[in-house]
Amino acid sequence: MPPPAIPEAIELLVLQGTGFCNIDCSYCYLPGRTDPRRMSDETLRTVLAKVLRSRFVADALTICWHAGEPLVLPRSFYARAIALAASLAPPGLRLTHNIQTNGLLIDEAWCGFLREHGIRLGLSLDGPAFLHDAARRTRSGEGTHARVMRGVALLQRHRVPFHVITVLRSESLDHADALFDFYVEHGVREVAFNIDETDGVAPVSSHAGPGAGAALRGFFRRFLERMRGAPGAISLREQVWATPAIANGLPEGYNQEAEPFRIVSVTRDGRMASFSPELLGTQSAAHGDFILGDLMREDLETIRVRTERSRLAAEIAAGVAACRDRCAYFRFCGGGAPGNKWAEHGSFDATETAYCRLMRKTLIDCVLEDMEVSLGLAG
Ligand code: SF4
Repeated sequence: MPPPAIPEAIELLVLQGTGFCNIDCSYCYLPGRTDPRRMSDETLRTVLAKVLRSRFVADALTICWHAGEPLVLPRSFYARAIALAASLAPPGLRLTHNIQTNGLLIDEAWCGFLREHGIRLGLSLDGPAFLHDAARRTRSGEGTHARVMRGVALLQRHRVPFHVITVLRSESLDHADALFDFYVEHGVREVAFNIDETDGVAPVSSHAGPGAGAALRGFFRRFLERMRGAPGAISLREQVWATPAIANGLPEGYNQEAEPFRIVSVTRDGRMASFSPELLGTQSAAHGDFILGDLMREDLETIRVRTERSRLAAEIAAGVAACRDRCAYFRFCGGGAPGNKWAEHGSFDATETAYCRLMRKTLIDCVLEDMEVSLGLAG
């Protein structure tokens, strides 16, 4: 995706309708996920008005409901939010709503609502039950796979499009075939992979040990091989992203997470952060809680100026510059995720992380290899 038409434009507005989550995944990085408080209508109205009536929206904006389990809130909350956003949006703005859900609460009524409003749905599903239930459990320790699969069946019956996000733990990497077969068997067509990262309040990544690179390389090689053998069966986000990046490089300024305001994340009480969404809720001696302003009391212009002049922005820019100078993968990566650099190094002025080694460098190498095999160039 190219940078926006105006460099200040907000592309992604992450709204935390509630921080509460109804389950307790072992790798979750969200603090406060037992807090049941929700965004009030007044906060919703104020935040949407300040963003949508500002000069910081260009031609497209995605509103993502995340940072907690969005479906624990009633549909009436989203109905009000969607109507309000539509009424405040400037003419011609392409406004998209995304929900990232754990899928447990999907029922017939939610399917109708998601379809009616064209909401793009991301579903967290870590593959077959033996992989999924090892990490995605309720607070009483029960696996959630069966309930998520009921949600999958309902979405499919009601023709609600969705994509699946699978978190790969180190244990998953021996099971590329099982994952591929699972998606195909259950009609999952769009897949994205993450790894359990060292991030936020999450425990240390399961990929921290030696051999992680080789294991991930083996996984992606096999998964891409299976995809080659079944053309069109699955669309893999990482391949969709990496293929044009390898062919053409990324445009300067591509890295959403490293540019002020390209991503704006707002807590349920109207305080906002920018850069990597997972910084919201993180505490640090140097940067406090990473909150850059309070939309209930301040306008976006004031917060923008503060953000540009912040030590945080300067350190993130220094980290991107260091990546540009030192890393051969920079043109495919754009300098990495600041939140991840912080979690791993306690500094933004850093370059390589375990995450980028695995999910950028190794991944790009694997997609490149796959392209060479597909083109008959592998020797
Ligand atoms: S791959 Fe890592 S070191 Fe290279 S540019 Fe990206 S974040 Fe920086």
